[in-house]
Amino acid sequence: MCAFALKNFRFPVTTYFGERSLKHLTVLTLAFLLAACAGLPNIWGSSLPPVPTPTGFPTDPPTVTLTPPASSTPTITPTFTATPTPAATLTPSATPLPSKAGIERAIIISFDGLRPDAIELAPMPNLMELMEGAAYAPLTARTIDYPATSPSHASMLTGYCMEDHGVIYNKYFMYMGYAKGTDVFQLAHEAGMRTVMIVSKDKMRQMAEPETTDIFEIAYGEPAIQEAVLPQIEQDFGLMFVHFAGADNRGHKYDWMSGEYMKVLREGDAVLGEMIKTLKASGMFETTFFLITADHGGHDSNHIGLIIEDYRIPWVAYGPGVIPQTLDLTIYTFDTAATVAYALGLPIQPDWDGIPIYKIFGEEQLQIHEKYPCKN
Ligand SMILES: [Zn+2]
Repeated sequence: MCAFALKNFRFPVTTYFGERSLKHLTVLTLAFLLAACAGLPNIWGSSLPPVPTPTGFPTDPPTVTLTPPASSTPTITPTFTATPTPAATLTPSATPLPSKAGIERAIIISFDGLRPDAIELAPMPNLMELMEGAAYAPLTARTIDYPATSPSHASMLTGYCMEDHGVIYNKYFMYMGYAKGTDVFQLAHEAGMRTVMIVSKDKMRQMAEPETTDIFEIAYGEPAIQEAVLPQIEQDFGLMFVHFAGADNRGHKYDWMSGEYMKVLREGDAVLGEMIKTLKASGMFETTFFLITADHGGHDSNHIGLIIEDYRIPWVAYGPGVIPQTLDLTIYTFDTAATVAYALGLPIQPDWDGIPIYKIFGEEQLQIHEKYPCKN
């Protein structure tokens, strides 16, 4: 405004004032304008001259080099620099890898509440036969710090800690949506694989989005699970998850390691035997990768305690290329998703908390867990 006033200042006409008065008026007017422009902001509002606008002002040209969030601008390649990933040399590539030689499909089996020391005591002969040719962690595999069914299974299948996948509850809360992040079912589905989930608790629906699971069936009891699973095997698949709830149900009712708990484990093992038979009859057994595990263990009639029997889980990997061995490195349940992804040649996600257990294939273990990676 001041610049405008100064620029457009005109000398008053001389017909009305005498020359002397005119000089005074001119000097006074100019002085007033200069004073106003120089330092009387309270009278004129903002007295700042129209200097270049400060950086960040809305009128800035669009050449501001502020980095927008990667997700909002598709033309910017995400750098993942905000992710607390370990050193690059230890991080597997996010590029899809070829599947391990000979692996055409994978089955993840969770015996809900299975303690590793119950396998031989039950006994579970079909599982024990697989274990003879498997990479097996009898003592060093464990679930997350909250050893409950929903959070643990979410970590198992997504590859994330509980605070990252968001399933922090152990009930069926559909309004809470699905486990967050990129899970192994999404990756398999995106790679064109047929994905199947047969579960025996309805809350397992929250482990993966419906659009990433071609088949999702809830089957209560071991006979119903068998009836649902065998036809799905015959149709072939890329990734299958089978969940047996029997041991957890009997454990809560009759105690962990009780006769009833052992009995239902034998029934689940018999279903595993039928699954193996069906795979063999279809000529698929030799090209199938198995990862057999649990969401938690248990003691007395619960599994949310503070003892190792609640946290420790079985972790059995069997299939083409797997070197039979006893594993003594620390394995967390979120390593299951990463290991199955690696076995199927799916891209390992840089933000996963889980890491592939390369060692099962006789390969160098590029990365290990030096400490529990989750916050709580
Ligand atoms: Zn459970």
